[in-house]
Amino acid sequence: MTLSVKSLDAGYGKLAILHEVSLEVAAGEIVTVVGSNGAGKTTLLRAVNGLIRPTGGTVTLDGTELTGRPTEKMASLGLTHVPENRLCFPTLSVRDNLSLGAWSKGGKGDLDAVLELFPRLKPRLGQAAGTLSGGEQQMVAIGRGMMAAPKAIMLDEPSIGLAPKVVAEIMKVLTELRSRGLAVLLVEQNVRASFGIADRAVVMQRGRVVLEGTPAELVELPEVRNAYLGGAAA
Ligand code: ATP
Repeated sequence: MTLSVKSLDAGYGKLAILHEVSLEVAAGEIVTVVGSNGAGKTTLLRAVNGLIRPTGGTVTLDGTELTGRPTEKMASLGLTHVPENRLCFPTLSVRDNLSLGAWSKGGKGDLDAVLELFPRLKPRLGQAAGTLSGGEQQMVAIGRGMMAAPKAIMLDEPSIGLAPKVVAEIMKVLTELRSRGLAVLLVEQNVRASFGIADRAVVMQRGRVVLEGTPAELVELPEVRNAYLGGAAA
């Protein structure tokens, strides 16, 4: 498995949030993590990416130990994290925002490959990122992560606040990343959208993994349909 999380414990100070969380994402696979507000999804990505220090368990990428390594080392180790709320630098140009993603490669990222993924950014390279639409800013945030040519990418709710058409566009890009061989770990509240593209899904509750399976298996479960799909079949 490319990205492997085993029995991860983490929290904030004395507050334990994650309890023995395990999951794996292979190269060329999309795994989605769903769960209600406060389930610990964002905390999981932070702990994997070293933004908070795990108190137990391990994280490995292609067999290399990442557990507790500093966040700024993660990109050069092959792991990219696209955090919630896109976090573009609004006064910097699109080009400069993308270039920031390549610092771990000495500033030399594959801009052409990123623009192939997001052709809409090409005519906007000189535009201040703060003037882009929400969907375009999400593209910059993902594109910035891709500049370091990662093996694995983790995304925290990339669909948040976006119109359905733009959500579909972002989901399609994630399938393109999968076909380029990346391991994709997708945290989403928009379960309908993430189940539409994921190979496997993990459900978290109160900091624990409580269910896992393919989206097709999970939508058969009334508790999943009621909690995350408004009761309807997907
Ligand atoms: P959401 O879908 O609402 O973003 P989530 O599943 O991503 O939720 P987390 O953001 O990981 O959940 O939060 C899990 C728990 O950790 C919550 O109880 C939250 O209050 C707590 N928490 C998050 N950040 C901090 C922090 N910096 N300090 C203390 N507690 C925190």
